[in-house]
Amino acid sequence: MDTQKHYPPVFSFEFFPPKSDEAAAKLRETTSQLAVLKPRFCSVTFGAGGSTRERTFETVVEIQETTGIEGAPHISCIASTKANIREVLQAYQSRGIRHIVALRGDMPSGMLSAGEFRYANELVEFIRAETGDHFHIEVAAYPETHPQAPNYAADLRNFKRKVEAGANAAITQYFYNAEAYFRFVDDCEKLGLALPIVPGIMPITNYSQLARFSEACGADIPRWMRKRLEQYGDDRKAIRAFGLEVVSDLCRRLLEGGAPGLHFYTLNQAEATLGIWRNLGLGMPA
Ligand code: FAD
Repeated sequence: MDTQKHYPPVFSFEFFPPKSDEAAAKLRETTSQLAVLKPRFCSVTFGAGGSTRERTFETVVEIQETTGIEGAPHISCIASTKANIREVLQAYQSRGIRHIVALRGDMPSGMLSAGEFRYANELVEFIRAETGDHFHIEVAAYPETHPQAPNYAADLRNFKRKVEAGANAAITQYFYNAEAYFRFVDDCEKLGLALPIVPGIMPITNYSQLARFSEACGADIPRWMRKRLEQYGDDRKAIRAFGLEVVSDLCRRLLEGGAPGLHFYTLNQAEATLGIWRNLGLGMPA
């Protein structure tokens, strides 16, 4: 774990592009509340098959220009052509964006052509070939194994391909099992992969939504947590309080165990992330 240590730890926040004027106003409020924590960067997700291409672009550029925090768009390559991706990269370069989260993405239902990229390592390779060192490239990592991978070892080998293609850092899928993260990082180190692997943190505020997300992305909610969350039923306040305690403990363990930072999946809400931040005693950056 030692090569992972990073002082001070780096924090980043993830948002999704808003769908309405009202949601955009709410996001502006959220980003201004979180920008004071001086994250290393703020990332903005990309809808499957390019469905949010313009909104991702506008949102990330607005965040970077209004808060002064580095904006990092997610780009997914599935169902894209090289010409599409080239155009997107050029647009970001022209607006001073230097940080990218490079993903394969998932095939949108109803879309038939997989495009010119099969996996994220091909996207990373393409970004490097087209733009050299312009972008700091983050890729996704799966301590609990990507749901489509045949097994853990194959998934780890595939993760290595993305690193060898030129990724600078990785963000993990969320998890509630710190042990899975530490083992994954150790296994990466055994393969000679020295890049920072930052845990993705999903605050818990809504159990049915969390159960749905977890089912889709293969994140495990440990049985003891499930039982407690089920017991609270519709009591949102109790769910939030329990979530805050559990996720703060997880973050504390991860940082104490040498994680180089934390990446928060904010779901465009500031409160849960701020609560964890306060519990960790991180204070206000100077
Ligand atoms: P890959 O690294 O390509 O892996 C996908 C699968 O293929 C894995 O099972 C892997 O083992 C296998 N594989 C990889 N390379 C090879 C190879 N060369 N040969 C054979 N098998 C291979 N989705 C979105 O749509 N938009 C987003 O904005 C978004 N943001 C995300 C941010 C983070 C931090 C994370 C962790 C996930 C995000 N996702 C997003 C979800 C992601 O797109 C899905 O998990 C997707 O299924 C895999 O993307 P990937 O980049 O990890 O793919």
